[in-house]
Amino acid sequence: MLELRTSKRTEIIDITDKVQEEVRKTGVRDGLAIIYTRHTTTAITINEGERGLMEDIEDVMCRLVPRGAGYKHDIMDDNADSHIRAILLGNSVVVPVSNGRLDLGTWQRVLFIELDGPRSNRRIVVKVIAT
Ligand code: ZN
Repeated sequence: MLELRTSKRTEIIDITDKVQEEVRKTGVRDGLAIIYTRHTTTAITINEGERGLMEDIEDVMCRLVPRGAGYKHDIMDDNADSHIRAILLGNSVVVPVSNGRLDLGTWQRVLFIELDGPRSNRRIVVKVIAT
């Protein structure tokens, strides 16, 4: 289990190195790593960790799912946009593990996306299945 503190309402955090460390601790050489966020207003994806692209992702999410656009959930929780963005981005990824390493492409990084921060205790489950 990884624990993260986030510092902004919307924030993309590269967790690749932390996930790799969790994989290493399991001792599994070949298998599948499942990286899963336990929250309804966060997401996990794989993409390039370039700063400009991360800002682009945030901008597009804000345009696709604007905040406060008359959502019913906002009446009780004021974060419907966060939930809907999380659904669009997805809450888990599976990455092959080869020779004890996440088998990612050159530009691929595992990205955790905070959509309703800041939060002090975001939890990400990392499970590895040997194959
Ligand atoms: Zn809510």
